[in-house]
Amino acid sequence: MSNRQPIVAGNWKMNGSRAESAALLAGIKQGLGTVKKAQVVVCPPFILIPLAAKELQGTAVAFGGQNLDAHKSGAYTGEVSGPMLKDFGCTYVIIGHSERRSLYGETDAVVAEKFKAAQDAGLVPILCVGESLAEREANQTEAVVARQLDAVVAHVGIGALPNAVIAYEPVWAIGTGKTASPQQAQDVHKFIRTRIAAKDAKVADGLRVLYGGSMKAANAKELLAQPDIDGGLIGGASLNAEEFLAICRAAG
Ligand code: PEP
Repeated sequence: MSNRQPIVAGNWKMNGSRAESAALLAGIKQGLGTVKKAQVVVCPPFILIPLAAKELQGTAVAFGGQNLDAHKSGAYTGEVSGPMLKDFGCTYVIIGHSERRSLYGETDAVVAEKFKAAQDAGLVPILCVGESLAEREANQTEAVVARQLDAVVAHVGIGALPNAVIAYEPVWAIGTGKTASPQQAQDVHKFIRTRIAAKDAKVADGLRVLYGGSMKAANAKELLAQPDIDGGLIGGASLNAEEFLAICRAAG
């Protein structure tokens, strides 16, 4: 029986006005007392991070970015760095989300650089890995996840993983309403842990591996009951405080 503390992280993506975000944060704060075990995290768009910092001050809710630039500072118009996120109070940052990989051309090498930049800034990267539908249908799920994982481990070393979180997000389940079955998810989570254990069993045992892909209150309990699923990375359902809190409660 593992004693890994579950994490439920909300990825707001590019959503929310100031007023909507303040209301969402207020709703999360109001229901937080019902969450017994999970570390609750929200990842708003960059511009809403100061609002989250203000609203979440003094609460147990951590917050983070959805992306960062691999450089610390300089002539990188439109980008935000790890030290900037840290300066605004972020604890976490999502790295290598499939939307970043597919829409913004982030390669495994870029993702590995960003992972390192996050840790160099004192942030905990939430590294997303996962296969497309075509890759799953071609029986490439494990090969793809291994490639994405290995690229990062080769760059930063296995010793960097205790300060990181992995999120297994099958691309075909993100924002589609189509969730991996608990068994499908568990199989890949176990594969991830076993692959890390081949390098360091202790690191693998402590590693939090979150599931992401259309997780909601209605399916969270079954997914989170799997032995190698240590929480969730939640997109759409994290925009509703009650729904998000219900998932947080299901994690523990
Ligand atoms: C995500 O974007 O990380 C995600 C899991 O989205 P959704 O929950 O909407 O599928």
